[in-house]
Amino acid sequence: MVTVGVLALQGGVREHERMLEALGARTVLLRRAGQLDGIDGVVIPGGESSTIDRLLRTFGLFEPLRAALTQGLPVLGTCAGLITLATEIEDRAPGQRSLGVIDMRVRRNAFGRQVNSAVERIDTAFGPVEAAYIRAPEVVAVGDGVDVVAKKGERVVGVETPSALAVSFHPELTGDTTIHAHFLGKLTR
Ligand code: GLN
Repeated sequence: MVTVGVLALQGGVREHERMLEALGARTVLLRRAGQLDGIDGVVIPGGESSTIDRLLRTFGLFEPLRAALTQGLPVLGTCAGLITLATEIEDRAPGQRSLGVIDMRVRRNAFGRQVNSAVERIDTAFGPVEAAYIRAPEVVAVGDGVDVVAKKGERVVGVETPSALAVSFHPELTGDTTIHAHFLGKLTR
């Protein structure tokens, strides 16, 4: 059985826990660097990326988490989690940093008010997914070795590397397990 650490500093933690457990994984609430050794993967939930960044540093997790993820510990980031994984944030909050795990440039709150909280069926590399968007970011550029795995029209809302998966939307809110199941597959590979 795999153990996933769900980063539990701020944001939608419970929904990820429930979905991962429904798929047969064990979960722990990740809040301390010492927990990184005992887990097979990490989920960074949605919420507010500048708050997650600030709390990562307050809890002494920023550098240890960055090191573990850049060394290949698998990670799934959703919405604010996607922003947290980026190398570059176009419109970051004052002082906001990101972990720089996925070579991409992101734009926060990219889809405007009309999709502040829309649910939509989109095509992904893993099949159709029911996707909920809540002040969602857009991926505006990706580097070498980063695959685009989900699009909303022409706009990139999902990317993948050998160890990381990140989506702009909230797959944990619609009951659609496609993204989480694919992520768990990366842990056991
Ligand atoms: N707009 C938020 C941010 O910049 C992300 C929104 C979300 O995670 N639902 O962090």
